[in-house]
Formats: sequence, C-alpha cells, structure tokens
Amino acid sequence: MNDVTALRKINTLCVFCGSSEGNDPAYLQSAEQFGLAMVKSGMDLVYGGGGKGIMGRLAATVKAGSRRVTGIIPTRIHEMVKHIGHDEDELIIVGDMHERKAAMYARADAFVALPGGIGTLEEVMEALTWLQLGYHDKPVGLLDTAGFFSHLTAFLSHMIDEGFLRSVLFDTLTVDSDPMRLIERLQRVPLDLPAKIAHP
Ligand code: AMP
Repeated sequence: MNDVTALRKINTLCVFCGSSEGNDPAYLQSAEQFGLAMVKSGMDLVYGGGGKGIMGRLAATVKAGSRRVTGIIPTRIHEMVKHIGHDEDELIIVGDMHERKAAMYARADAFVALPGGIGTLEEVMEALTWLQLGYHDKPVGLLDTAGFFSHLTAFLSHMIDEGFLRSVLFDTLTVDSDPMRLIERLQRVPLDLPAKIAHP
C-alpha cells in the first residue's frame, strides 16, 4: 500500500554543483532539466550564489520558473566573482565557509549534488557525514548525469567492502540520472533517517 502521508515535504532544496560547465554539454542540459523538475515539484533553491557554470544555469532556470532562489556566499568568494545580474532573489553574504554551510543546512530540506569539482565533492560528502552523525535528518542525492558520479559510488562501495563505511548510510544516498525521478525518490526516503544510521 502506498502511504502518501509518509512522503517528505521538500520545500527547499540545497544544490551543490560545479562553478564550471564541464566538457560535455549534457552537464549544462541536465542542470536545466533538474531546475525544471524543481520548479514542477514546487521547490525553492538554496545554492552557493555563483552565476557561472552549472550553478548559474541551475539558478537561472529555477528563477525563470518563479521559484525562490537564495544564494549563500562567503565575503571572500563574493569579492572574487562578479555579481552583476545574477539570478538570486536573495544573496546572503556570510563570513566564511563554515557559516555558509550552517546557513545552507538550516534552510534546506534535502541536498543534491549535480556534476562539479572538488567544491561540490566536499560539500556533498560533508552533508552525508553530518547525516551519518545525526546532525541533520535530511536526504542526500546525486544527479548522475552521463554516469558522472559512477567513480564516486564505486569508491564508496570500496569503503564498505573495506569496513570503513556502513552500507546503511550508502543505501540512503539516492543516485539517479533522471532529474524528476531523483526528486521523487528523495521524497520517499524514510523520515526516521538518523535513528537508522547514526553511529551508536
Ligand atoms: P566546484 O565544484 O569546485 O566548481 O565548486 C563548486 C562549489 O564550491 C559550489 O557548490 C559553491 O558552494 C562553491 N563555489 C565555487 N566557486 C564558486 C563561485 N564562483 N561562486 C560561488 N560559489 C562557488
């Protein structure tokens, strides 16, 4: 039986993604498709506040669909990048990366990474680590465009095989190449996550 009441309400999604475009046009296309899926699902966006690459395309798409876009950016990065005509409804400038993450985590109901570089990797792995430790109970997902995250998921599987990662945490990581299906699957992640995965 489908228990619709058990669906997670994801009003605000925090998305980590590349400040670059990547070499394959599929990455930008899928950022746009993911933005459209967010709009269709009635989700607002919290992200790093950049106007370039995958970040910029995603923010522009969500904003064009009339959903709220909040950028959270540390002073240092804000000073480094040009902020003209960007797509945020609100740009929150914070002191440092720690403050930025705390602000992102507080606002979001779930986290997703789109293809990106080490910034994206660090952010999504931290979101997963905080889930493991019970600091939040929000699901984490990967948009696996063109198999981009297959090396990462293979490495996480290796960690399980070698006894460094609990498979119950890996099982909560939602990986999908289809934007709408990824969103729908995140909404179905069990509500009692911390109880299931927190370390004893
Ligand atoms: P990367 O994946 O290395 O391109 O880094 C992307 C992540 O790092 C984003 O999710 C942002 O949080 C942060 N970041 C990197 N570059 C920028 C930028 N130009 N403006 C805002 N945030 C950025």
